[in-house]
Amino acid sequence: MDAKFAVIAGSGGYDILRNGDFGTNLECKKIPTPFGESAPIHRFSKDGINFLFLSRHGEERYSISAPFVNYRANIWALKECEVERIISWSGPGIINIGFSVGDFVLPHDIIDETKNRQYTFFEKKGIGFIRHKSPFCKETREALIKTFHELNLKFHNNGVYVCTQGPRLETAAEINKYKISGGDLVGMTLIPETFLARELEMCYAPICYLTNFAEGISDRPFKKGELFEGMINNDEQKKASFSCKRFPVIIRKSIELIQNLERNCSCKNAMHRYKKDGIISEDWRSWIQ
Ligand SMILES: [Zn+2]
Repeated sequence: MDAKFAVIAGSGGYDILRNGDFGTNLECKKIPTPFGESAPIHRFSKDGINFLFLSRHGEERYSISAPFVNYRANIWALKECEVERIISWSGPGIINIGFSVGDFVLPHDIIDETKNRQYTFFEKKGIGFIRHKSPFCKETREALIKTFHELNLKFHNNGVYVCTQGPRLETAAEINKYKISGGDLVGMTLIPETFLARELEMCYAPICYLTNFAEGISDRPFKKGELFEGMINNDEQKKASFSCKRFPVIIRKSIELIQNLERNCSCKNAMHRYKKDGIISEDWRSWIQ
C-alpha cells in the first residue's frame, strides 16, 4: 500500500473514514513493526489524489489518548509504506489571545513539555544528533500556506506549539509559564511524532484548528458534565466543529499542491552525515534493528 503522502489525523479527523469525502477507502492494514503493530493505515485515491490516512487517537471516539499513542510504530509503518511527506491534523488550545476559536494555525516551532515518551528510534545507537532549526518541514509548510490562500480560509502562518504530556489538561500556572516562554497554542500530540519523522528523513508539517482557550487565558466557570468542564462554550464548539469539517477540502488541496513539488528540503538529508561517515548504510531499517 505505497503512497508518497500521509495524513495523521487527530480527534474528529477519523470521521472521513465514514463520510466518503475522499472516495473509496481502497485498502486498510495494520503494519507490524519492531515497536508493535501500527494503527490501521487506510489508502485513499480519487481524481489523481493519492494518500495514506492514519487516525492517531483510534477510529471510534477518542480511544487512545496522546501519551499512549504508539508513535514509533505509526511513523515506522508510514516509512515502510514509502511515505515521504506527512501532514498532521490536530485541534489544540489557544494561549495567544491574538487567535480565536475556529482559527487555523500552521505552527512553525515547538516546545517540548512532554515526559517519558519514546522520543527516538536510535536507542543505544550513538546516532541521532539532528538539528531542529526548523522542526517542521519548510517546503511542506509553504505548500500548506499556499493551500490556505487558495482556499481563501483565515489562518495564521506562524505559531509556537507547546506539547504537554496529558491526558490531563494544563493548570493556569502552567499555561502562564508557556505564555511567558513564547507559546501560542497548546496540545498533546505533535511530539514525538515530528521528531521521529525527521529521524527517518520524512517531511512533517502540522495544520491546527483551534478548539478552546487554554486554562486561565479566558476565565470560565466549572460546568459539570460539559466538554472540558466548561472551558469551551456552545458558540465556540460550533466554530471549532465548523473548522474541523473543512478537513477534507484542506487535505485534498494540500496534497494536490504538494504532490507536484520536487523534494528539495533538508528533511531528506537528516541522516546524511552518518551515511557519509560510513556509520549507517542507505537502508533505513538497519539504522534501528
Ligand atoms: Zn521536508
